Amino acid sequence: MSNIGSYEEQLKNFNWRSVEQELDHQTGKVLNIGYYCSDRICQNGKADKLALIWEDFSGEFKKYTFNEMRILTNTIANYLKNLGIKPGDRICLFMDKIPELYFGFLGILKMGGIAQPLFSAFGGESLFTRLEDAGTAAIITQKKHLGKVRQILENLPHLKHILVVDDDGSKPLRDKELAFFMEKETPIEKFEIYPSTAETPSVLHYTSGTTGKPKGAQHVHYSLIAQYISAKYVLDLQENDIYWCTADPGWVTGTSYGIIGPWANGITQCVLDSGFTAERWYKFIQDRKITVWYSAPTAIRALMKEGEAPIKKYNLSSLRHLCSVGEPLNAEAVLWSKNVYGLTFHDSFWQTETGSIMISNYPGMKIKPGSMGKPFPGITATVVDLKTHEPLKKTGVVGLIAIKPGWPSMFRTYWNNERTYKSKFINGWYICGDRASLDEEGYFWFVGRDDDVINTGGHLVGPFEVESALLEHEAVAESAVVGKPDPINMEVVKAFIALKPNFEPTDMTKLEIMNFIRKRLSPLAMPQEIEFVDSLPKTRSGKIMRRLLRAKEWGEEIGDTSTLEND
Ligand code: ATP
Ligand code: MG
Repeated sequence: MSNIGSYEEQLKNFNWRSVEQELDHQTGKVLNIGYYCSDRICQNGKADKLALIWEDFSGEFKKYTFNEMRILTNTIANYLKNLGIKPGDRICLFMDKIPELYFGFLGILKMGGIAQPLFSAFGGESLFTRLEDAGTAAIITQKKHLGKVRQILENLPHLKHILVVDDDGSKPLRDKELAFFMEKETPIEKFEIYPSTAETPSVLHYTSGTTGKPKGAQHVHYSLIAQYISAKYVLDLQENDIYWCTADPGWVTGTSYGIIGPWANGITQCVLDSGFTAERWYKFIQDRKITVWYSAPTAIRALMKEGEAPIKKYNLSSLRHLCSVGEPLNAEAVLWSKNVYGLTFHDSFWQTETGSIMISNYPGMKIKPGSMGKPFPGITATVVDLKTHEPLKKTGVVGLIAIKPGWPSMFRTYWNNERTYKSKFINGWYICGDRASLDEEGYFWFVGRDDDVINTGGHLVGPFEVESALLEHEAVAESAVVGKPDPINMEVVKAFIALKPNFEPTDMTKLEIMNFIRKRLSPLAMPQEIEFVDSLPKTRSGKIMRRLLRAKEWGEEIGDTSTLEND
């Protein structure tokens, strides 16, 4: 039996108040995510349950119970407080996926700080812009990333403390730098958790930078309500689950559903701190007996590229529920997962700004491959007209995804950018910036990001439709479709394609792909040109950056590349 039971019933009965009650939260009273993810779970009799199983590339692993996590997060909170860091100060987490990253996040929240998680793979420049923008007071990092911090320190007058979690004494630390060993400090059994309330700022998350310069989305402790219940209903996390979220906490998925959602539910989660290979991932699922797996289309496509051979080498029978987020999940991927794992990836749609899942496919609900599913209970989502921003009356018409403001995990502003924040709310709706249509049964069908839609001779083509058709061809591993300038039609469709191993980038392959998609697409959506590439430009959260390809076609400046994955 799934947690959500019947989606239709939930829709009728759901209200946020009852979630607050489930979490024993009373309006106006103290609400601290750090407490909810550790202390409260211990108080509920699960002190000795495993909270985290962490493993690195070599297979070395560490385990922590909820009580150990409670004490370690206290220890970090206490240390930060004693340094003189104040509630409301921004504290950056700049680490690989090591336990200190996860516990540091909760420790910061426990002392009232604002956690600012950033990808440890960021270079000095990307780090600098975000620390400068946020006026960050402290950074917690590893020795191997210290060089990047040192490089930019001079121009960051607000940055007072640099905590190094694995200093080995090989090189002397400098001014402002402190060796902090989470597990060697005096353990703090009791810490007076900062009495934050619903609207106290909690996390400052920068968006992925897929469509432009990343924006700092400011969240508050009340987000817990939505993150807790959506982890329960969408990820279907249950008492004995072993859960794996593949996202790095530098991306919102890695905090909302890689820290807060699962731990507020008292669930054991696993972290793999290692690069991607299909075999490494399957071995991890096998060894850790993962039951619920939350990943992203880019990863799923990478697994598809490797094919079935590695799957056969491992025992993946522990898996019972799969979910995906971050990009459109093409129908082919959904069908493939059913075929090879015997389980269907459940697509979910949301954003850094929304803080939690907005639209999704729920356990037990009929899945229409290629559709994002339906609004989360308690969320009012619709598709509004491109110009008037009125909800569309007809189904099958493309408009903008819009959400009624007021859900618990809604961002409260863009850091230093209230104007852009305000501009996202039109006609009483929060406008996501994505295009979709609704079908007769209320399912959402993604079309493309508003910025990525191609206007060819007055007809609008969504890249997702074309990319989905391309991905059905056996040779295509990945594709990105953009508009290219055209003297007659303004724009025409151009496809960039990365091939699977064993396929040659020849004219013959191009022709075959063209013939294949001709039957699947309208003449207008047909690419006029195909270009083979080794790989597509992506953000660190694995999103295809079509704007870079488009800029190249138009001979324009490529803009912000601070999130571009370049290894
Ligand atoms: P930026 O706002 O800086 O351009 P970004 O929008 O990629 O970056 P995120 O907040 O990480 O930053 O991503 C949210 C976006 O990801 C959504 O607006 C949507 O375009 C896309 N997305 C997420 N989940 C899905 C999904 N299931 N199907 C289609 N698109 C999705
Ligand atoms: Mg965005």
